[in-house]
Amino acid sequence: MTAMIPYGRQDISDADIQAVVDVLRSDYLTQGPAVPAFEKSIADYCGAQHAVAANSATSALHIACLALSVGPNDKVWTTPITFVASANCALYCGAQIDFVDIDSRTYNMSVERLAEKLVHAEKIGNLPKVVIPVHLCGQPCDMAGIHALSQQYGFKIIEDASHAIGGKYRGEPIGNCRYSDITVFSFHPVKIITTGEGGMAMTNDAQLAKHMQLLRSHGITRDVSEMTHAPEGPWYYQQLDLGYNYRMTDLQAALGLSQMRRLDEFVTRRHAIAKLYDQLLADMPVITPWQHADSYSGLHLYVIRLKLGDIGGTHRQVFEALRAAGIGVNMHYIPVYRQPYYEGLGFKAGHCLEAEHYYAEAISLPMYPGLTEAQQDKVIEAIRLATEK
Ligand SMILES: *Cc1c(COP(=O)(O)O)cnc(C)c1O
Repeated sequence: MTAMIPYGRQDISDADIQAVVDVLRSDYLTQGPAVPAFEKSIADYCGAQHAVAANSATSALHIACLALSVGPNDKVWTTPITFVASANCALYCGAQIDFVDIDSRTYNMSVERLAEKLVHAEKIGNLPKVVIPVHLCGQPCDMAGIHALSQQYGFKIIEDASHAIGGKYRGEPIGNCRYSDITVFSFHPVKIITTGEGGMAMTNDAQLAKHMQLLRSHGITRDVSEMTHAPEGPWYYQQLDLGYNYRMTDLQAALGLSQMRRLDEFVTRRHAIAKLYDQLLADMPVITPWQHADSYSGLHLYVIRLKLGDIGGTHRQVFEALRAAGIGVNMHYIPVYRQPYYEGLGFKAGHCLEAEHYYAEAISLPMYPGLTEAQQDKVIEAIRLATEK
């Protein structure tokens, strides 16, 4: 049997490997110069003032919530069509989570549903402290709309841009935080650039950046200007907050810095793959991704929806047939509140109908820079067979 074509995978060059080897031979495997160099590279690319690297996007989301002082009794809202980490970060802080239904075309958080939910929440005194829109598949959310609502209702915004580095919103790089307080990227190997594990929080607020730097390293500072009193000696440091060890290593940062040189190339390649899929799928019983004119997607994922009325099998049968044909299709995502843990918090089926409708039809096709045309043809042929009446 030939190997399964995965839905996503990293692209590692000799230069990437050499960059990591160079760190291995250097003085610092962690807390050396590669992390600040990687942070600067992403801040410059995005046009953000500050970048705080972490050992995952999950960690970055956690310290982003803490820096925005999310705590018990606070409410945080996100989309149900996301990875669980976008919601878990609120629960880590002891806050309550809720979900805003999605837009039927972009599958991102719907600004109309958000506006309706805010009107209701204001009436009952239950407004969110933070809203976490997720740029699903790399397509940016309607950030201008969400930002306008944040001004009206006084909530903060964390963009979960785990899928979206290299993309643009209204002609500007995602991550510049024009419409948010903090933007988080992920560098997991299936994402657009990788550090193995890793994440980063972008912000234009110096206080938030300082607080996140503190929280990623035990809440400890060695900066005299931040201390409550003069140092007791050259050894002295102070723990000012309850932080974590969420640091990125220099090995990871060197890989990320090297990957940054090919970021634009990766995203261009993803667009070429998407264009070919769009053409090859045009006459099939599927809905191809819809792109908003305001946006240039990072295209982390290529999600189709099955027109179930026009095909022979069920969603599950088509999915299983594709896997059996060696196509590593995937599902992004199960609505978060349908997870047993979330049902244990009281969430029930029917909470976000558009999200559940999406879940009943969606399939992620293979999408990564190394995907060949021959492999794309194989994907298409398998879809043709799997969807025949
Ligand atoms: C991958 C992902 C995360 C978590 O990223 P890690 O770096 O693996 O912690 C969070 N949110 C979304 C939307 C993701 O896709």
